Amino acid sequence: MSTPSILSDRINNLSESATLKMTKLGRELASKGINVISLSVGEPDFDTPDHVKQAAKQALDENYTRYSPVPGYPDLRKAIANKLKTENNLDYDISQIVVSTGAKQSLSNAILTLINPDDEVIIPTPYWVSYSEMVTLAGGKSVFINTTIESDFKITPEELEAAITPKTKLFMFSSPCNPTGSVYSKDELAGLARVFEKHPHIYIISDEIYEHINFIGKHESIAQFESIKDRVILINGFSKAFAMTGWRLGYLAASREIAAANDKLQGQTTSGTCSIAQRAGIAAYEQGLETVLEMKNAFERRRELVYNLLKDIPGVKTNLPQGAFYFFPDISAFFGKKDLQGNEIRDSADLALYLLNEGHVATVGGDSFGNDNYIRISYAASDDALREALRRIKEALAKLA
Ligand code: PMP
Ligand code: GLU
Repeated sequence: MSTPSILSDRINNLSESATLKMTKLGRELASKGINVISLSVGEPDFDTPDHVKQAAKQALDENYTRYSPVPGYPDLRKAIANKLKTENNLDYDISQIVVSTGAKQSLSNAILTLINPDDEVIIPTPYWVSYSEMVTLAGGKSVFINTTIESDFKITPEELEAAITPKTKLFMFSSPCNPTGSVYSKDELAGLARVFEKHPHIYIISDEIYEHINFIGKHESIAQFESIKDRVILINGFSKAFAMTGWRLGYLAASREIAAANDKLQGQTTSGTCSIAQRAGIAAYEQGLETVLEMKNAFERRRELVYNLLKDIPGVKTNLPQGAFYFFPDISAFFGKKDLQGNEIRDSADLALYLLNEGHVATVGGDSFGNDNYIRISYAASDDALREALRRIKEALAKLA
């Protein structure tokens, strides 16, 4: 008889984050002296801008070292409200903004705030790895709308309508999207907003963390549609725009009721996020977008580079992503093939492991993003590393028979 687990069902049923797992495996291999190129974790390879680092040093000297208000310092929330007004033309006052330890916490808080057991959450696939696991943790049920490369991984209003039931409580998506890089246009968002207008029981989590890494023009938020704005929980943060992944700084903007509920939840779990990171966040927003634009331009150049290299690999099918810093190519042509030791590639996780062990390139299998026919490749790496990684991937794939 097996011993019962000491852990809760909640944790036993939780999957490990695949992005973080592949990154860990890559690091382990690298620690053995192997030259591993990591294209698994999604984080800018740039350094945090100097003026932001300077503000953090000053914050320490000025003794910003004590508990902050749970939803964040008022002047940081003011800077966020200004940003939402000037960049996105969205009106929020500071009572509608809750700062957190990263967009990840804001997403998780928002779900915990809204979801009762058995509530349904509609998530278009592919989605960012943690969405469905966060829904499960909250006791909700994920309902997926599958998309493929042929529709540029975007859903239509008809598909959204068909997925809605009386139990639907929430819809969540990211645009620009992790893992596909797809970006919804204003017209496409308007089409979805019209569906939500007909269903006032549904809330919308709009994850806009990649807003500045958009190659087709101005960022569009679904919160711009006044008829549904009160039901939108806008998620954003500093990790991607300002290369601040380690600082753990994000936020949500929502109706006063939802913001207050998130404040209450955070007050019983983490309290306000790091005081020093918050002071640095103010500097990031006050300084403007110059460094963000430089990063975006570098990502756009690398996107071309990787696109051309990927198109050149037999069996790999890709589209041209319009934002974020990921490719999500279809690699299903390799399923059923065997490596030189006779091990069969059965799914995307097998392929990602094979690429790591054979080619020493870390990627992430698409299964954890809800679409098993794909792998995710982050191109937040130097041009040279990308050229070498794609050469290794091509060589490793050619060995499968
Ligand atoms: N949403 C998406 C779509 C992401 O890719 C990430 C990346 N980590 C996050 C949220 C979380 O970001 P943060 O570092 O602010 O927690
Ligand atoms: N968002 C990044 C990614 O998708 C960071 C890793 C994570 O938090 O999952 O790789």
